[in-house]
Amino acid sequence: MIRAVLFWLLMSSAAVAQSFTGLARVDPTESRVVDTAGGIDLTLALSQIVPYRVFTLEAPERLVLDFREVNWGDLDTLDFDQAKHVTNVSFGQLRPGWSRMVLELSEPMFLNLASATVEDTDATAVVEISLQRTDAETFAGLSGAPVDPQWGDLFAAPTLQAPNYDDDTLVVVVDPGHGGIDPGAEHGGVTEADLMLTLGIEVAEALNRLDGVEAILTRVSDVFVPLNTRMTIARQNNADLLISLHADALEAGQARGGSVYTLSDKAASVAARRMAERHQRGDLIAGLDLTEQDDRVASVLMDLARAKTGPEGVRFAEVLVANLMENDVRLHRNSLRQGPLAVLNAADFASVLFEVGYLSNDRDRSILLNEDTRKPIVDALAQAVSDWLAMRGLR
Ligand SMILES: [Zn+2]
Repeated sequence: MIRAVLFWLLMSSAAVAQSFTGLARVDPTESRVVDTAGGIDLTLALSQIVPYRVFTLEAPERLVLDFREVNWGDLDTLDFDQAKHVTNVSFGQLRPGWSRMVLELSEPMFLNLASATVEDTDATAVVEISLQRTDAETFAGLSGAPVDPQWGDLFAAPTLQAPNYDDDTLVVVVDPGHGGIDPGAEHGGVTEADLMLTLGIEVAEALNRLDGVEAILTRVSDVFVPLNTRMTIARQNNADLLISLHADALEAGQARGGSVYTLSDKAASVAARRMAERHQRGDLIAGLDLTEQDDRVASVLMDLARAKTGPEGVRFAEVLVANLMENDVRLHRNSLRQGPLAVLNAADFASVLFEVGYLSNDRDRSILLNEDTRKPIVDALAQAVSDWLAMRGLR
């Protein structure tokens, strides 16, 4: 029997937020998305109703569902996604208290129906969403992330506390890639997000043991942090250097070993572009509105500042590779590389992306999973920062 039917169709800024408690669990056996004649139907069975909202985004076309808060349990992407019109599904925690599911759509579709029905007998809830194919122009008019103070700014950078270090301290921002709804590369039950967090914490601890160095982490838990927020954290802390930590996974090939990337503004190779895409899909996967992030005037001004920080980043990359070799860390054939990586785009501090190895390579994976075999990597990073600091004549 149906007790309540709630229509929380939030196409723009209308808000529905009530106080519910507890964590709703998803029932994987009753949850799926399927093709229909005119679009898709999505059904999500929950152990109880929680506030939710739903909206679409363009470039690329995506459907986003926010919940407060859902335990995804054993939900399996392949079982859940039975629709040809849904090209990718991701779900997970967005921030503490917030869960999100994002479906990448094969074409523009508008929200035709969003409803939640609660069963009288056991209070379980079924969320049903129906999308209908439409043209790009109509879709664009109906799409966009809702601006709603009640739901807050999910991605605001944490408010900066006054740094307790002095001006001549070298500030190194350690950036564990991915997190939360965006696990990054996955292989053999290991996710890049988890592994980079573990490594990042070890690196930050090693750096903080150095004299005159302060390490700041962009995340300290399995939480999603947008690219822009990572940069904002660095900027707010007056970073001198940003080290973004990643690991790759390739389906084919024998790729292995670490590489250190600096920014390339020249035409990148296909391989470098694909690599950048793999590490940068986070904002897309997490359902961020990407349509307003192009600022060409700012980028011209940034090019000027980058004339200084660019070479400093390259120098750090060289020093890091030298120290990795010194410590017998497995490196890729081309250990110093360049790529069109947005996380290296900042002009006001030097930055590198350190791809520590390949999760798809058994030996690399086992090295990265073991604290003892990670130590030479951590030590090389600390020594490289120390060397770089000496080279800059700051000390
Ligand atoms: Zn990555």
